[in-house]
Amino acid sequence: MFRKCWHTNDLICYSTITADAVFLTHYHGDHVGQIYDVAESVPIYMEETAKKILEKYQDHMKTHIPSQWAKSANAVKVGMPVKIKDLQITAIASDHSAADSVMFLVEGYNKRILITGDYRMHGFYRDKLEEALTNLGQIDLMITEGTSISRDSEYYHDENWVEEQFRQILHDYKYCFLLTSSSALDRIASFSRAVPRGKYMLADDYQYAQMQIYDETRDAKLKSNKVNYMSEYNREGAEKRGFGMVVRANDKFMPIVRQYFEKYPDKTCLIYSMWSGYRDKPAIAQMLDICKGQEKTVHVSGHITKEDLENVIGTVKPKKLIVYHTSAEGKDLTSIELPTETQLLTPTDAEIVTLI
Ligand SMILES: [Zn+2]
Repeated sequence: MFRKCWHTNDLICYSTITADAVFLTHYHGDHVGQIYDVAESVPIYMEETAKKILEKYQDHMKTHIPSQWAKSANAVKVGMPVKIKDLQITAIASDHSAADSVMFLVEGYNKRILITGDYRMHGFYRDKLEEALTNLGQIDLMITEGTSISRDSEYYHDENWVEEQFRQILHDYKYCFLLTSSSALDRIASFSRAVPRGKYMLADDYQYAQMQIYDETRDAKLKSNKVNYMSEYNREGAEKRGFGMVVRANDKFMPIVRQYFEKYPDKTCLIYSMWSGYRDKPAIAQMLDICKGQEKTVHVSGHITKEDLENVIGTVKPKKLIVYHTSAEGKDLTSIELPTETQLLTPTDAEIVTLI
């Protein structure tokens, strides 16, 4: 059995990757995109809420993707070990721009490996993650992301700062559009909480459905607030009382954003809340062009800063360390401050690392 492949228009191409199982830390495209190359007989595991979010996304995008594979993935609960042959794999709740991201602790043969996936220490779950990392026990190998090692990070704001900025902007402008990734659910929930009493909090039916899934398992203080989907029934009321609206750069939202910027130029604002690298994408550039001069950027990264990475490694104190998901090499990589007991490994592709 083979999955339909992403990389070709053929109905079937030959997925060649085999393994006993594949564990996914989160649903971002650069972490799940190659599933189409994995043989269909290989079981896939991902965190239960993240799986539901990805299922909803794949259903929404079904005419644009080869298959809706998330439906058949196995749901993993945080803290509940999964046995694959001689290995035991346990998901640890993490903190990243994809909701319900996890790390994996892999145990077997008297060794323990921590695989972080993407993470950061400036999100809403920082304290929980810090506590989990502090109580991990001996780690023989830590495989960590290092996206931000080469990026300047003199001072990073956190998600609480983002929410404060939202609150201020929603206070200053009657009509606020939030341009962000539809899967940035912590961010969207934070925006919804910042919408003042009396104003509408609007999204389309797809985003609304994602927020319902997100809220089901969320601590009360992080749940979204009064998200409504746009309809003929609330159109007039929203224009009268003002709103916060989550938008995407597509044909559905472009005319709405244009209409408000033309009709109420002084009362309308668009908040850009994504990585700056996406500004050049044609649809996003087009939307930003509509609101020239009335756009505010409010964003923090989904990735750990170099300083926080050093702190985390200092907390975990792994015997061996591999940094992946980074463009850093050579000097940048060796400039990371490590505990004396930690040995930095820099394996090349396909090189086997042995733990003894
Ligand atoms: Zn990611």
